[in-house]
Amino acid sequence: MRRLGLIGGMSWESTALYYRYLNEGVRERLGGLHSADLVLRSVDFAGIAAMQAAGDWTQAGEAMATCARELESAGAEALLLCTNTMHLLAPAIDTATRLPLLHIADATGEAIRNAGKTRPALLATRFTMEQDFYSARLRENHGLDPRIPGEAPRQEIHRIIYEELCRGVVKPQSKARYLAEIDTLRQEQAIDGVILGCTEIGMLIGAEDLDLPVFDTTRLHADAGVDFMLG
Ligand code: GLU
Repeated sequence: MRRLGLIGGMSWESTALYYRYLNEGVRERLGGLHSADLVLRSVDFAGIAAMQAAGDWTQAGEAMATCARELESAGAEALLLCTNTMHLLAPAIDTATRLPLLHIADATGEAIRNAGKTRPALLATRFTMEQDFYSARLRENHGLDPRIPGEAPRQEIHRIIYEELCRGVVKPQSKARYLAEIDTLRQEQAIDGVILGCTEIGMLIGAEDLDLPVFDTTRLHADAGVDFMLG
């Protein structure tokens, strides 16, 4: 099995899900007492979130590059960055080591294409919805046409991620807000699927809540990690 390095803690609520999914994935494929060969570098998210809010992407990129080098020293053979948003800094992480970065948008884009869908809603932080690093990759590498909510719902979706989900708070009224927004996107933008484009959104909604295909980036990214480890 190849060793995978995780850059996590953004937030740890979703890193805990990655840890579970990676281990479950290895157990499903190898059976017995097999579990994932991992190294985890988990950051203090308060400092990183402050850099994000201040738009200090240079410092955040340096922090991510340092984590990548530390994981390389610990014997990692590939990197899994356990957040969609911080893939904004994929170029800084890519150049920090010789390790491949298993990009979350590629794991997601491939799953959407395999499902025969082309026009997914992208629910995520404002950074992921509004800056082009994520949608552009889905368009250019996977031929998709991702759709995002309007300004006011984007703010609310973002607020719920940072003020609730990243703190382990799951509220029924927030779930209702997300589902209502998906309904609006369906009526106004003819979406044919929903990307849970923030690694905590799976705590709030899932396939059982919707009659549209749901693409949970945490699960899809963890699956890509298992493929790498056992590939
Ligand atoms: N985990 C979230 C994501 O997937 C948001 C937290 C962060 O900014 O990294 O984007």
